[in-house]
Amino acid sequence: MRLFDSHTHLNSPVFEKDCDTVWEESRQSGVESAIVVGYDLDSSERAIELCRRLAGTYAAVGVSPHDSVTAPADYLDRIRSLAQDSAVVAVGEIGLEYHHPIGRHDIQRKLFQEQIALANELDLPVIIHSRECENDLVAILTEQKPRRGVLHCYTGSLETMGIAVELGLHISFSGIVTFSKDQSLRQCVENTPTDRLLIETDCPYLAPSPHRGKRCVPQYLIHTAESVAAIRQNPLCVVADSTFQNALNLFGIDR
Ligand SMILES: [Zn+2]
Repeated sequence: MRLFDSHTHLNSPVFEKDCDTVWEESRQSGVESAIVVGYDLDSSERAIELCRRLAGTYAAVGVSPHDSVTAPADYLDRIRSLAQDSAVVAVGEIGLEYHHPIGRHDIQRKLFQEQIALANELDLPVIIHSRECENDLVAILTEQKPRRGVLHCYTGSLETMGIAVELGLHISFSGIVTFSKDQSLRQCVENTPTDRLLIETDCPYLAPSPHRGKRCVPQYLIHTAESVAAIRQNPLCVVADSTFQNALNLFGIDR
């Protein structure tokens, strides 16, 4: 059985000393592939560097809502030129974060819109971060129509998820599903169409149960896969195979 981790930050400073070992151990445990996701210009560059040397990894480049306020004026041109690298399979992570007071919402919206337009121009999928922003999220998705993409670490409403699926997007669930008692999240996991389902660790964040509080690594993805399988009443191998194939399809990876 092999797994695809659709969202990692192996480019985080937290992994600076040992990301090769961490990735090697993850591969041996069955996590064969992963997306290494940028969140600002430096981390996007580092994602590309890592993906050149870590087998089975692919890069996403973009400026996250957390970093939107500090992005330089020419950020979009620089993301566009980074995206030319053959390791890059997506624009991300981009989006809206209204839970943490991290910066003006109008600036977040502007960067989100500009980067969806860039992804459409480059025919790349988008990786979307969204938290407590559902009205603006739905408005921007409906207007900008990303061609392909994923709502990562999804914890929003069933209704918004339905709209995203209608718009052709994938939905990715993180380790939160292993410990959350939220009924609405369980309903989202149950109701995601099998061909749109992805799983992720979002490492080094959000370690799943029974590793909560530790530094999260891709190896822990199995716990999220098991929870998703239990909630959907699917065999584990069905969740592993479909999420692997869905990731290849979404990110346009030929194997
Ligand atoms: Zn992330």
